[in-house]
This record gives sequence, C-alpha cells and structure tokens, in this order.
Amino acid sequence: MSSTNFDIAIIGAGAAGLHLALAMKDDSFFQHKRILILEKSAKDQNDRTWCFWEKGEGLWDTLLQQSWSKGDFFTTDNAVPLSLSPYRYKMLRAIDFYEFAKKEIMANPLFQWVTEDVQAVENDTPIQIRGLKANYVAEYVFDSRIPEEFFQAKDSYTRLLQHFKGWVIRSKTDLFDPDRFTMMDFRLLCPNSTNFTYVLPLNKREALVEFTLFTPALLNNSDYDIHLQRYISEILKLEEYEIIEHEHGVIPMTDFPFENYSKGNHIRIGTGGGWVKPSTGYSFKNCERNSRQLVANLKSSKPILNGIHKLNFRLYDALFLDVLYRQNERGPKLFEIMYTKIPVQKIFAFLDNQTSLAEDASITIRFPWLPFLHSITKLFARFWKK
Ligand SMILES: Cc1cc2nc3c(=O)[nH]c(=O)nc-3n(C[C@H](O)[C@H](O)[C@H](O)COP(=O)(O)OP(=O)(O)OC[C@H]3O[C@@H](n4cnc5c(N)ncnc54)[C@H](O)[C@@H]3O)c2cc1C
Repeated sequence: MSSTNFDIAIIGAGAAGLHLALAMKDDSFFQHKRILILEKSAKDQNDRTWCFWEKGEGLWDTLLQQSWSKGDFFTTDNAVPLSLSPYRYKMLRAIDFYEFAKKEIMANPLFQWVTEDVQAVENDTPIQIRGLKANYVAEYVFDSRIPEEFFQAKDSYTRLLQHFKGWVIRSKTDLFDPDRFTMMDFRLLCPNSTNFTYVLPLNKREALVEFTLFTPALLNNSDYDIHLQRYISEILKLEEYEIIEHEHGVIPMTDFPFENYSKGNHIRIGTGGGWVKPSTGYSFKNCERNSRQLVANLKSSKPILNGIHKLNFRLYDALFLDVLYRQNERGPKLFEIMYTKIPVQKIFAFLDNQTSLAEDASITIRFPWLPFLHSITKLFARFWKK
C-alpha cells in the first residue's frame, strides 16, 4: 500500500473532528496546509441530538432545531423556575451539523475527505497512519478514536455511564410551552440511583422526552420504555400520543486521564481526548472551545495541549464522580442543592470550567462536605501511589 503525505490528519469526523476542521478552515494560518480527514462512516444519519448552553448568539444558531431562555428544574416534589438570560439552552440535530460541516469542508481545496477505517497510528516522525484501504503520513494527527488503554484500565479509575433513551412524541392537542424546557426532573425517580427525565418542547404538540441515568450499568431496553411511558402518563398527564423519533445513547463518565495518551504530535481529541465533561457528559461546546484552543496553540507554537485540561476542574469532576459512584442514591439531592442554592448562570459557567478559584469556592461550599471526605482521601491515596 502506498502512503500519501499531509501536514495534518484528523481521524474521525464527529463533533470534535468537525469542530477542529471548521476552526482550521476559518484561519489563514492553515491556507497552505494539506489537511486530511479520515472518517469510517458516511455521517448521513441523525445519530444524536446535541444540547448545550451559551451566552447570546452562537456559531450554530442558524442550524438549531430549538432554543430556550426559560426552564424548570424539578426536585422530587418542587419546581424551581430557571431564567437563563444571558444564556440560552440550545438544541442541534447532529445531522444538520454533519451536513453543514461536510459541505463547508468539501468546498475548500485544503481538505481531502477520505472514507477510511483507521487501524493504527504509529508515532514515528512524521506519523504513519494505517488504514484498511491505504496508509497515510502526516506531521500532526488529531485522533478521535478512544485509546485502547481506556478499555484495559478496568478498575483503576471511576467509571459511570450516562445512559439515556428519549422519544420525540406528538400529542393530539396542545400540551407544551415551546418557550420553556425541563432541565432535570426528579419527580418520577427510580429509587436508590441517580436518574432524571428532561423535556425539550419543539412546539406546542411535540417534545423530546428523555430518561437519563448516571449509574455503573445499563438497564434492559424495556425498562427505559416503561419509565418513559410512566413519565408521559403520570407527569405530563398525556395518554394519547405518537412516538415519531427515538434516541438512545451511552456516554462514559470517568476520571480516566485521556490527556496522557496524546504523544508528541499525535493528539487525542473528543471523547478520546477527555473532552467530555466527566460529571455531566456534555461535550459539544468543549469540542468547539478546545478546537479553537488547539488552533491557537499551533499558531503560537505553544505546547499543543496548552489550556485544554484544567487541573482544578479535573479534581472537582473526579470528586463528584466518586461520590456518585459510591453513593449513587445521593445524586438527586446533590443536583437539588446545585439548582436551588446556586444561580443557574453560575452553574453553567462552573460546568463550562470558566469560573475563578474564588467562584469555585463559593459554589463548592454549598455542598455537604461529609460525602466528599472519603473521595478526597481516596484521590490523594491514588495520587501518592503513582
Ligand atoms: C446519543 C448521544 C447524545 C449526546 N448528547 C449530547 C448533548 O446533548 N450535549 C453534549 O454536549 N454532548 C452530548 N453527547 C456527548 C458528546 O457530545 C458526543 O458523544 C460527541 O459526539 C463526542 O464527539 P467525538 O468527536 O469524540 O465523537 P463522535 O462524534 O462519536 O465522533 C467520532 C467519529 O470518529 C469516527 N471513527 C471512530 N473510529 C474510527 C476509525 N477507526 N477510523 C475512522 N473514523 C473513526 C466515528 O465514525 C465518528 O464519526 C451525546 C452523545 C451521544 C452518544
């Protein structure tokens, strides 16, 4: 098999790979670079819906399916109204992002898009990429595959799964307020675990209703369905409806140190780069922010991962995950404390890793310290063992 040389190769054209390619396309620094995109699938399915919050206008506003400035958080028995301004909570169908990004990238002669299943990356200089169809050579490789070591390091790190099933339902009569969404609803709770439902209205008659759990193991498929049926009947008080779309997904929630598996110019991105926020599973905006940071680092010859991983937030995420792992039943109370005692704008900034140490202290002090004590001791013990 012959090899073809590139300046930059991006493996995987999902959220991270496409954000990175778009950030490079928009920057004159890359105008003489040859950029290769290797993606194994056609990216022609709507395989997920991305939700995220941002202040004011954003880069993807013309692609959005819906957005909201008001919502509710439901504890097991109370409603907490949320007024998000200056933030909006936004919903984007993945297919709309894939199609937009692919069109932009294909129209630019810098890029070559190859349908390829990458088998291995060899960290020589330049880096060798072995695909099923051909081999490729690039000076920099941005790789969205999940490192094998993550699957092998079974018990060394905390691992929870964020797993969810959602239905887009259509009611025969007006039921939803399209200007108001449900962020988290703990009213119909499977006991002794962290689980909630959320509702994203698309119009007065249609909404995505999604049941989500943060637990170590998945449920049987029928258990998600039973919960959704109960939520729609008991909480939404809706008996007659049509299911027009399904969504099912699993996101790893872990403190595995993905950043350690970037070597030299072979950089891990996306889920495989640790860009999924471990305590929430959100990653779409991280992909956008981190891609722009990588581009800035490449341009200024700074260390390539400069500013991507922030130690204090890694620590908060690891502590929160450990508490949820050991005492999964505490989750609803911890989220209740968060949304009832802290302004939502502050929560969003904190979950975006954008708060100062003083703000972090004002937030973390709201939580009971006892459940976290064991986790702090455990993490220190792990640190000293290394
Ligand atoms: C159903 C679902 C819903 C989600 N909802 C949200 C949400 O609302 N908000 C949010 O912020 N996050 C959400 N996430 C989490 C996160 O944003 C997504 O998982 C995001 O797509 C991660 O980006 P990524 O680029 O790492 O992975 P992906 O988007 O999965 O992209 C990886 C790409 O790499 C390709 N690939 C893999 N192996 C190879 C190979 N060997 N050779 C070539 N190509 C390869 C894949 O085909 C894929 O296109 C959701 C995740 C899922 C699964």
